[in-house]
Amino acid sequence: MRWSHYFIPTLKESPADAEILSHKLLLRAGLVRKLTGGLYTFLPLGLRVLRKIENIIREEMNRAGAIEVLMPALQPTDIWRQSGRYETASDVLYKAKDRSNKEWILSPTAEEVITTLAAGEIGSYRQMPVNFYQVSVKFRDELRPRFGLMRAKEFIMKDAYSFDSSDEGAMGSYQRMYDAYTRIFNRCGLRNFPVEADTGVIGGNLSHEFMVPAETGENDVVYCESGHYAANIEKATSGIPKTAAREIGAGIEKFATPGVVTIEALSKPPFSVPANRQIKTLVYIADSQPVLVLVRGDDQLNETKFMARIGAAAVRPATPEECVAALGARPGSLGAVVNVPATVKILADERLRGANDMTTGANEDGFHLRNVSIERDIKVTEWFDLRTVTKGEPCAKCGQPLKMQRAIEVGHVFKLGTKYSEKLHACFLDADGKSKPCVMGCYGIGVTRTLQAVIEQCNDKDGIVWPLAVSPYAVCITPLAVAKDSPVMQLAEKIYAELTAAGVEVILDDRDDRPGVKFKDADLVGFPLRVGIGEKSLANGEVELKPRGGAVQLVKAEEAVAQVRAFLAGKQ
Ligand code: ATP
Ligand code: MG
Repeated sequence: MRWSHYFIPTLKESPADAEILSHKLLLRAGLVRKLTGGLYTFLPLGLRVLRKIENIIREEMNRAGAIEVLMPALQPTDIWRQSGRYETASDVLYKAKDRSNKEWILSPTAEEVITTLAAGEIGSYRQMPVNFYQVSVKFRDELRPRFGLMRAKEFIMKDAYSFDSSDEGAMGSYQRMYDAYTRIFNRCGLRNFPVEADTGVIGGNLSHEFMVPAETGENDVVYCESGHYAANIEKATSGIPKTAAREIGAGIEKFATPGVVTIEALSKPPFSVPANRQIKTLVYIADSQPVLVLVRGDDQLNETKFMARIGAAAVRPATPEECVAALGARPGSLGAVVNVPATVKILADERLRGANDMTTGANEDGFHLRNVSIERDIKVTEWFDLRTVTKGEPCAKCGQPLKMQRAIEVGHVFKLGTKYSEKLHACFLDADGKSKPCVMGCYGIGVTRTLQAVIEQCNDKDGIVWPLAVSPYAVCITPLAVAKDSPVMQLAEKIYAELTAAGVEVILDDRDDRPGVKFKDADLVGFPLRVGIGEKSLANGEVELKPRGGAVQLVKAEEAVAQVRAFLAGKQ
């Protein structure tokens, strides 16, 4: 490719609204342009990178035995109603109406469509295992589209769906995808690691996310350095001890706490109740019903864990007025001991199990209760792990202090079980002649997010430093004189032709521009190797080879092609 005939609109300055480094570099290197928030056009170089990542994904999916299909992006609503996700996923669904006012859904994912396909096509255990995948555009009405391609309204996802006749079979399919994901992200040049993950609105019972460590990531990952454990904070647990039981004091005692409405205020004199002897009572409205959630005063509720446990379609914190209506008091004096209607569910964090000598709100503004023994005095409906793990807590497996890391989620594997196959009637006849629902798994990779994650991880002060496998071109030839008959340009053309003939992806910067501009652009775009040809070195019969991020090397002009090929072979 000749630079002058191509379209690489590099920018000196970052556009003001580019928030993170990779977003700035995407724009500055001329890979994408923004149409509007969350929507981007891929320019030629960006598209080349995208195709390379897609190819790696396709190769590894095919190698793992998955079969490529392509499903419609426009989906009927009835299958979403059947799966229950018309309601539970409604906040991210883009809906469109046709001329007859019928509603459609723009695909955010495709469990419903693939399960409908399976319902029609899979009839016997002999047809499984089977795993279908596609690489296609997805749409999500994100609350906060941001960071360029990281969280977009429209993005490219590889989604795969496995169907098995048994649970063990489904585990095998899951493992094959897990292994393929590790290979895919490694081949993209990404440092990445899998973590245990919440299964969220999609359902299912086993899940891992593939994370790329980055300060700009939107996930917190908890991990043990010994390699025993890594989990998304939304799922993470630790070996932190439960609340120690004490000698039980007198019975419950009510005391006045005028104006004291926080854990912290109550921990100070004159009350001096340490936060770890307080019960924090939170009120949520789940599908229109108030629910109480109890965690220890020094702990934070993890909303994702809570949402997963409560299993309601719509959950939100209660307003102060709703707290008064449910319990008779405002936040700051709430508790679960007295005045709790029998219909109100009480969920409590495991760390409180067995705790006594606790203090909590009296459900009367300006009053608290002390000497509360949680199992004696509170009718807990269900106990769950609901607290958020913090840095330094002991690993549940080995006791070492846990670490925390920000990370970008690039892929996600789920074991779904039979949730979708039951609802959408994807059943088969087993060897014993019985009809059973297919056991499913689903597996997503954010292709466009992965592209940006590579930039977020692979860059320096001058621009992007592409790993060879996903670089838009492997080599950039930079002649410093571009007149057709100049010896410099003639050599550049010769090397360009020979490398191209050898199958090397090479771009010839034939622009009539200052050397500084051309070098800066080549560094900004991040080609792994630049071949610099200038009059001075050519007078000695030499050209420059400059690996991106490495030092210049002078090589004999007639050896340049062989040296370039050797360099690239060493990188593969
Ligand atoms: P997130 O938690 O970041 O919102 P998710 O868990 O909802 O993502 P999945 O349903 O697991 O996403 O989708 C599979 C993959 O698609 C994700 O791992 C991620 O890489 C990518 N992805 C999801 N939402 C977006 C988005 N809005 N823009 C770009 N990529 C996305
Ligand atoms: Mg996910």
